Amino acid sequence: MIYKRSSALFAEAEKVIPGGVNSPVRAFKGVGGTPIFVKEAKGAYLYDEDGNRLIDYINSWGPMILGHAYEPVVNAVIEKAKKGTSFGMPTEIETQIAELAVSMVPNIDKIRFVNSGTEACMSAIRLARGFTGKDKIIKFAGCYHGHSDSFLIQAGSGASTFGTPNSPGVTQGTAKDTLLARYNDIENVKQLIKANKNDIACIIIEPVAGNMGCIPPKKGFLKSLRALCDAHEILLVFDEVMTGFRLAKGGCQELYNIDADIVCFGKVIGGGLPVGAFAARHEVMNHLAPLGPVYQAGTLSGNPLAMAAGLAMLTELNNDKDIFKRLAEKTEYLHKGIAKVLIENKIIHTINRVGSMISVHFDEAEVVDFDTAAKGNNETFKKFFHGLLNEGVYIAPSAFETWFITDALTYEDLDFTINAVNKVAKTL
Ligand code: PLP
Repeated sequence: MIYKRSSALFAEAEKVIPGGVNSPVRAFKGVGGTPIFVKEAKGAYLYDEDGNRLIDYINSWGPMILGHAYEPVVNAVIEKAKKGTSFGMPTEIETQIAELAVSMVPNIDKIRFVNSGTEACMSAIRLARGFTGKDKIIKFAGCYHGHSDSFLIQAGSGASTFGTPNSPGVTQGTAKDTLLARYNDIENVKQLIKANKNDIACIIIEPVAGNMGCIPPKKGFLKSLRALCDAHEILLVFDEVMTGFRLAKGGCQELYNIDADIVCFGKVIGGGLPVGAFAARHEVMNHLAPLGPVYQAGTLSGNPLAMAAGLAMLTELNNDKDIFKRLAEKTEYLHKGIAKVLIENKIIHTINRVGSMISVHFDEAEVVDFDTAAKGNNETFKKFFHGLLNEGVYIAPSAFETWFITDALTYEDLDFTINAVNKVAKTL
């Protein structure tokens, strides 16, 4: 593969954009080399500026669940754009997508649209704090909820009580209100609650973690969190930015039969346009301005193009009775195929999978939390990444990311990918 034009474009970009990218993980820092500049995409394939075709397993980090340039979504955006691109006034389509989302997801009555997953999570914890009158939140190490200050906190040593910021610019004042727990470790959560009695507004969690690879919740973990929240008047916030409208029509609440108090959305709900949303029962959502005292706003929130893309996407998913089953079957096929060739080539690995999310870790041990995810062999991952890229298969340029399976992938694409993994495995 030749990446001459991509490299030249990256050099140009670096002169005027910090690091040449508008979101850090795109810069290939985790794997080395220079990023691929994409020219266009259709279905399961990306076409880069050098004319290479790549099978895409990132899919814009999740949104393109039906493949790139999916016609009903594209057409909805084009038709809407002809009638004006932003008004800052209410439009009927906002109610239409809200009604559809509320009908698809269990346990929510109202939904507020924002412009990104970060905004959704940031607003959700403000709402939780406003609703409960408490300040602290519990988050799990390795879970990503966007780049808002409260979430950029890493664990101190062991089961520390107070986090420290992991980005300059996040104040100690903010950091002290974010408590860190280990994913899948209910005893750790209990300790934090005990040590901070009556101070915790919410527990925010990716109900299936997707930002340290794909990590499923252990059996009973989410249920125990729900019980702890009930016992201590803490709101349970499901960050379903990744999992919402991907793992099931009703997301993880449906999949695991657990009610969250606030649910955050992003990615799929916007059909590839900048959309996030958060939703809850009436009593919680009515605390939001203009009904209630918790302020939250946005010039472009509910933007007509974004709503048109989201509505078209959700309509497709709602009407296709088999979509989530089909996606899970494709992912299982890929899982089995990759596992087979890695075993044949004696490559130590663990594969995690839930629905259409899957990750390959180069470690033998079970990957259940951030610490076990971090033990994976990063040098092997780097070779694996570049090897696959060379074969025309594009996975995320970081060992801590999930692969997103799209319905546009055919079984031939999956076989092509398994074959590519087999070739690359021989070089690891
Ligand atoms: N929450 C989760 C679970 C995510 O995976 C992400 C982004 O990857 C976010 C929140 C932040 O969303 P955005 O990048 O749209 O701000």
